Amino acid sequence: MLIGDCASDPPLSMTQRGLAAARADDVIYGLGAVALARGHEQMAVAVADEVARAALARAIAAIGADVAILDVADAWPATAAGAKDEVFPASALVAVADEARARPAISWVTVAGAVGEPCLLGGVPSETMAELVARAGGPLDDDWVAVAGGAPAGRLVEHDATLAAAGLPATLLVLPARHPWVRRLRTTVADWLWRAASACEGCRVCSDACPVTLTPHALVATLTSGRDDGTAPAAFAACTGCGVCDAACPASLSPRALAVDVRDRFALLAPRLDPPGAPATRRPGIDRALLTLRLGLGAYDRSVSR
Ligand code: SF4
Ligand code: SF4
Repeated sequence: MLIGDCASDPPLSMTQRGLAAARADDVIYGLGAVALARGHEQMAVAVADEVARAALARAIAAIGADVAILDVADAWPATAAGAKDEVFPASALVAVADEARARPAISWVTVAGAVGEPCLLGGVPSETMAELVARAGGPLDDDWVAVAGGAPAGRLVEHDATLAAAGLPATLLVLPARHPWVRRLRTTVADWLWRAASACEGCRVCSDACPVTLTPHALVATLTSGRDDGTAPAAFAACTGCGVCDAACPASLSPRALAVDVRDRFALLAPRLDPPGAPATRRPGIDRALLTLRLGLGAYDRSVSR
């Protein structure tokens, strides 16, 4: 089945659900085009909010499309697709529709966090982080940083980085440089490894939370002990970098940093190795309201204008 993900927005972001509400026709059109191209016979959209659900139901009825609506948890990530399902975010489906209809390419990004007016913006690839932040009412703190992809999965980018250079993120989270999450993002992988060696409790909470059923606790144990204990690091080629394991860890470690580092090393070796294909998300991630609080973002939890 092909699933249009209209729900997986990280805390404070509204890109997928905002597009599902405002561009429902294009989401359904793009879903049909992708299903045709990739040979899917069944289609569905995953939704977690009423506004998007109503808009998609209207579009499905108007087009007469055979698309199911899956109600999913308000979580990050939100979809609980089966291993044989393929998932496309609403933003990608809108891009497919725009290309098919010869419209200019627009990147949709929620600018949220420490800005004057959190909003969902359409930007061009050459637009910089500073320009986007200015369009969102400007920063609330002079010493601000940009997190492309939001928290807990994003990365720090420079103020003058363009949307294209930042990887066309669907979320731009603005935070004061002193925010605890920024300090985490500035911690090196080597430092995370050292911290894990001294503080990992082996509790498995990170593995129990992983949406793609990986076992980051075992990876942490292997990397910190140097023992070959049967862990299959190649499985981490399927790590999505979602950061749910970080948010769940009671010791404030970053199994994600280690998993992503291993994943990226396997990607470099890809021509010589044959890592397993990335499975779709198999269980929902972490509740967004809880995640917002755990990441220390509660103070920035305001409505996003669309
Ligand atoms: S949740 Fe944290 S402390 Fe527990 S096993 Fe995973 S990395 Fe170690
Ligand atoms: S970052 Fe990777 S290991 Fe951690 S929860 Fe997400 S998919 Fe699992």
